[in-house]
Formats: sequence, structure tokens, C-alpha cells
Amino acid sequence: MSLLHPIATKLGIAIDRAHAYLELEGLTRTLERRVQERTEELQTANDRLKDLDRLKSTFVSIASHELRTPLTSIKVFVENLFRGIYGPMTPEQTQQLGRVRINVDRLRRMISELLDLTQIETGRMKLTLSSVSLVEVVQEAIDDLSSLAREKTLALRCSSPIEVPCVVGDRDKLFQILTNLIHNAVKFTPETGEIIISIICRADRKLVVSVADTGCGISPEELGNIFLPFYRTGNNTSNNRGAGLGLALSRHLVELHKGHLWAESTPHQGSRFSFTLPVEPQPNPAMV
Ligand code: ADP
Repeated sequence: MSLLHPIATKLGIAIDRAHAYLELEGLTRTLERRVQERTEELQTANDRLKDLDRLKSTFVSIASHELRTPLTSIKVFVENLFRGIYGPMTPEQTQQLGRVRINVDRLRRMISELLDLTQIETGRMKLTLSSVSLVEVVQEAIDDLSSLAREKTLALRCSSPIEVPCVVGDRDKLFQILTNLIHNAVKFTPETGEIIISIICRADRKLVVSVADTGCGISPEELGNIFLPFYRTGNNTSNNRGAGLGLALSRHLVELHKGHLWAESTPHQGSRFSFTLPVEPQPNPAMV
């Protein structure tokens, strides 16, 4: 009897363990089934969200295209009025028409930013690559915005080494990034301020282009948000308000060029927006 007791105890434990194991196996199977069900539900929800996102992009794209056509006619009509094609205008009419022109240009810019953003989001944005001199593109962007800077008596200049290697990029898109950053600097810098565009060539064969201004700056709380689509800081007035898409778009465009765009800022002292671009690879002498 005393011999059987330990055996009976061990048998009891083994039977308990076998029950526990079966129970655990049942629980594991139930858990696996539930995980699979939830995964399928999430997949369906995700597919639906993707469909809705595609629908949104198509809607924005079609609406923007439709808006662009009448806006182009308005632009032509306004320019004709300025040229005096329909007869002379009074100074008051010229002044009011000037406001119409500014707002038409603003709308055109917003619409084209919206179109570009939907193209990027749907992976339809294509770069036309060539060897590009950034010094030339910076100079073109400065020339383009110099009259706007002059109106606010802002100093706008470029500082770069004598020799700057070329980058491989889409010239128009690089021009778009630079004009957007310089345009922002002009908008957010009060009269008699300074905007300096600098180019440096780093040891890791990357060019760093910076647009630094002495403007209103951005608070540390807002600095993390400015690259989000449609985000605008509290510094915007009715005169300088955009759609809040320029920086989001510029960051995407820089990233399409395998670069990186970031911002540093001190409120009431100014901001600096910088981006990197890889230098054009040198031909391998062994291959020439
Ligand atoms: P927007 O078309 O409204 O200028 P952006 O995406 O280019 O849109 O900029 C987003 C916001 O970031 C701006 O509305 C402004 O509040 C802030 N911002 C951008 N550049 C500057 C700058 N140089 N100085 C101060 N604030 C800036």
C-alpha cells in the first residue's frame, strides 16, 4: 500500500498536467482563431481606407484641374486689364485690380500645390533627372523673388564657395523647393530684414542648402508641426496666408531626391530651413 501511494500521486499529477495541457491547447486554438478573425477584419478596414484615400485623391485631383481652367481665364483677363487693352484705368481701379491679381496668383499656387501633393501621395510624381548646378537654380530663384523682397526692403543674397559640384535632380522641382523656402522667408521677415541662401559641400559628398531669415521665427511647440499638410502657425496674417502645403510638398520633393529637409528657429530672431542633396557621382577613372 505504501509502495502504491507515491505512484498514485505521480499518476494524479500526470493526469492533471495532461488535462491542463489539453485545456491550454484549446485556449491557444481559440486565441489563434480570434487573432486571425481580427487580422482579417483589420485587413478589410485597411483596404476600405485605401479605397477612400484613393477616392479623396481622385476628387482633389479632378476638382483642382476643374478650378485651374477658369482661374487661368481670370488671370489672362486681369493681365489684359493691366496692359490697358480695354482702355485706361483710374489709380483706384489699378490698386483694386492689384489685389485681385495677388489673390488669383495665391489661388493658382494653392491649386498647383494640391495637385502636386496628390501626385506624390498616389506615387505618380515623376522626376526628370539631369545634372543640375544648384548655384544657378538658387540665382534663378533669387531673381524670381527679388522684386517681392525689394518691396519689403529685404536684403536677399547667396553665399557659396566658388566651386560647387552638380547634383543629379529635377531642375524644375529643385527650383520649386527653393522658391517656396525663399518665398516663405520673404513673407515672414519684417521690413529691412535679411535673407541669406548658403550652399556648403560636406565631407560626406552632400550639399547643404540653407535659407536663413531674420524674421518672426517659429515657437518650439509649432516647429514640429510645420511640415504637416495644411498646418499654419499663429504668425500668419490675411496678407501672407497660404494653404500650408508648401513645406509638406518641399519635404516630399527633397526626399524624392534622396535628401533631407529640416528647420531650426528662434522666435523673434529668425528661421533657417536646410536641405541636403547627394552630389553627382564622379565617373570612375578606371571605367573611362
Ligand atoms: P504656407 O503656404 O502657409 O506658407 P508652408 O507649408 O510653406 O505653408 O508653411 C507652413 C507654415 O510654417 C507657414 O504657414 C508658417 O506659419 C510657417 N513658416 C514657414 N516658413 C516660415 C519662416 N521662414 N518663418 C516663420 N514661419 C514660417
